[in-house]
Amino acid sequence: MQPSGEAHIGNYLGALRRWVEMQRTYECVFCIVDDHAVTAGGDPKELPAHVVDLAVSFLAVGLDPERSIIFVQSDVAEHTELAWLFNSVTPVGELERMTQFKDKARRFESVPAGILNYPVLQAADILLYRADAVPVGEDQRQHLELTREIARKWNATYGAYFPEPEALVGNEGRILGLDGEAKMSKSLGNTVPITAPPDDVWARVRTAVTDPQRVRRDDPGRPEVCNVHTLHKYFSAPAVVDDVAHRCRGALRGCVECKRILADSISATFAPMRERASELRAHPERVRGVLEDGAARAREVARETMKVVRERMGLDWRAAAR
Ligand code: AMP
Repeated sequence: MQPSGEAHIGNYLGALRRWVEMQRTYECVFCIVDDHAVTAGGDPKELPAHVVDLAVSFLAVGLDPERSIIFVQSDVAEHTELAWLFNSVTPVGELERMTQFKDKARRFESVPAGILNYPVLQAADILLYRADAVPVGEDQRQHLELTREIARKWNATYGAYFPEPEALVGNEGRILGLDGEAKMSKSLGNTVPITAPPDDVWARVRTAVTDPQRVRRDDPGRPEVCNVHTLHKYFSAPAVVDDVAHRCRGALRGCVECKRILADSISATFAPMRERASELRAHPERVRGVLEDGAARAREVARETMKVVRERMGLDWRAAAR
């Protein structure tokens, strides 16, 4: 996951919640991808704090450093090294065909190569650990297909080594932001951070867009088109969900009150995680310990992989001088 600050409820519902569960059945590697983040051209002064914020969110939701490897991408230089080597088996045409590339490229007058090569680094992130499976959102399926192709091409050229990882596509789809229109995303400012204090949660949720046809309080509302109602389904108890829908349809309750209940449900859901997060923020050395230990474990696997990759690709001149 890219370090763009604290995780939000879209990240939680679409990714983190599943990742916590996956730790029961898989050996997991969770990477905070700061090398990817630099392609977005953010402020370098803010990046370190964003990395730590995301690590705090990871640990607060229950990613467990005893069971999983949790680390920062730039601590393991093998990611960028492998990405470079994968460039030699990756067709430019495939990269140009990626939907995300086309979307992002539109925003630049002169497109940086990092935007084009982004999925090659992703392939390296995955294959460096010879991963069998990757949990992805629907929007990442295409990139994972490319990872599989890179693995196939590399294997065909240098001998079978990399698995073709399977996409574990979640069924959550996209969680809409508080604007009720676009995907919830930090860059759009339409999020609720998962570790926000209740006052902040309320300050954000009260701005949420509801059924646009419900102009006055005594207009009947349509929960089925209201994003606040969708969010209730994720965070409120089933009886509350039914009750808010009933009162909305009958114009028995105003939207502000309905949002108040949602804000309370969100705050209650994340209360234990908020507590863990504030404890971690008070002890940054614990977060550092987790990330440093994670990087050491990741490096061990990465070095094994790179040893084979270098040998197979002829990057071991010492073999000829023995
Ligand atoms: P991002 O921060 O956009 O790179 O997203 C990190 C992870 O969170 C990815 O697995 C996304 O699929 C997931 N994610 C981010 N935003 C949303 C959203 N609005 N709805 C569902 N999943 C999301």
